[in-house]
Parts: sequence; structure tokens; C-alpha cells
Amino acid sequence: MTRTVFVNGQYLPEDQATVSVFDRGFLMADGVYEVVSVLDGKLLDFDGHMRRLARSLDALEIAHPMSDADWLAAHRRLVAENGVTDGLVYLQVTRGNPGDRDFAYPPAGTAPTVVMFTQSKPGLADNPQAATGLRVVTVPDIRWHRRDIKTVQLLYPSMAKMEAKARGADDAWMVEDGFVTEGTSNNAYIVKGGAIVTRALSNDILHGITRAAVLRFAREAQMTVEERSFTVDEAKAADEAFITSASAFVMPVVAIDEAAVGTGAPGPVARRLREIYLEESRHTAI
Ligand code: PMP
Repeated sequence: MTRTVFVNGQYLPEDQATVSVFDRGFLMADGVYEVVSVLDGKLLDFDGHMRRLARSLDALEIAHPMSDADWLAAHRRLVAENGVTDGLVYLQVTRGNPGDRDFAYPPAGTAPTVVMFTQSKPGLADNPQAATGLRVVTVPDIRWHRRDIKTVQLLYPSMAKMEAKARGADDAWMVEDGFVTEGTSNNAYIVKGGAIVTRALSNDILHGITRAAVLRFAREAQMTVEERSFTVDEAKAADEAFITSASAFVMPVVAIDEAAVGTGAPGPVARRLREIYLEESRHTAI
């Protein structure tokens, strides 16, 4: 099936959806993105993703190309036209096309480029990996220091993912000064003595929308949450580990650098949080 893709206000067949070779996103990775999950044809945590998009655009001084109402309409139209039941909507905003290559930003008034497309993922919420858990390896975190901005500079996370696969694992956790920052495309957690531990928000990590929701649900369920850094050794000695992201929801981690975490099987806290997150998110999906 040919997807319908959104480019700068137009809905086009994917083979006709193009942007300029001079686009700052292409030449400079000068752009930001968001990923909103779709379950039962509805958008999960849409408002949270819009708030973070605004924050990323403001941090890079890129003009807001559309209102939240326009974003919502575009998401819904793409989901409907592409028949997405379960899957995701990807959106990207770049600083636009100045018509040439230059390190200096283009003049104010240059229109940002907006691209959106969908990916269908039938059975997204029933991912069999939730039952087996992920194996992660650790890699140094050599990214830039504004990881709180959701930019399209994803080369290092891609390299880390490839290294994980080469080492027989599913994903990588990045480590800086001995402490875990986050996964290649997710936030990282451990559970020790019933307490859920995850790194505090700062410029060192992306402020995950799923993280915010999961921590809120955990606190509402009277679970203990500690927002602090943890070391790789602490993670290996934890009772449980897991990750969160918009498309993985809550996913258990069962091994770190080949050392089994806890029993080596998904733990009860991760399982419960996944259930709560899916139930609550479906409930509030729009
Ligand atoms: N950290 C990084 C580096 C990510 O790329 C992502 C996913 N985009 C996350 C965390 C999780 O964020 P969210 O829950 O908003 O998907």
C-alpha cells in the first residue's frame, strides 16, 4: 500500500513526498522530531508530545510551523488515510531550506520544513519481547550535551544499536562517568527493594513522555520512585530493570552486559507498570 505522507501542508503519495537537498535537516541534522504511538486508531499521550515538541523548537529557536489543533488534525488524517490501527506517527520539523549550504542560520522568516508519516505495527501492545525481556549492553555516552532536545542527530544511538546487535544483545544503555544515562531510544530504570530508580531530568537525557506518565502512575499506585543516577554495577545487582519509550511502552530488561538482572526473567514491577501504562494510556487516548 502506498502511504500518504504529509509535507509542508500537503498530503502526498509517499513516492511524491520530497524535500530539498538544501534542507537544513538533511545537511546539518538541524531539526527535531516526535513519535506518537497509535493504539486502536487513537493517539497516546498526544498533549505531552506536543509540549515537548514546543520545548525542542524553542530550545533551537525554530519557528512553530503549526498550531496544536493543526498538528492534531494532521495526525488524525494520516492515521485515517493510512488505515493505522496500531503503530505510530512520526513528525519532523527542520529549520527549513535556505536555498544553499551555510553554517549561519537562514534569515528569520525562512519557513521550517514539516514532514509526517505513519508506520503500521499490528499488535504493537502485544510485543512478544515483553514476555522475554531485552538484553542490553553498555556503551560510553559520547553524545552532545543537549540530549534534552529531541533532535534528529541519531547517528550515535544508531551506532550503539548496531554495536548491541554485534554483541548479541537487543539494545544499548549509555554510560557517562560510571552512571547510566539512558537507552539508545528509551529511558532506563532499575528496581531495588521495591523502589523504582531512574535518572533525574537534566540536559543529560531526553525527558521521556512515557517516563513522565509511568512515574506518575507508579506514584499513584503507592510505589516508591527515586529520581537519581545509578551505576552499571548497581544495575547489574538490581532486582529488576526496564526501559520506557512511546513505542515500547514499558519493556523489561533481563540482562546487562551478559549478567542476568534479578532472576533473569521479566520482573513483577515492570510487568505491573506495563499493564497500568497500557490501560491508562488507552483510556486517555484521543
Ligand atoms: N531517550 C531517548 C534517547 C529517546 O530517543 C527516547 C525516544 N524517543 C526516549 C528516551 C523515550 O522518550 P518517549 O517516552 O517520549 O518516547
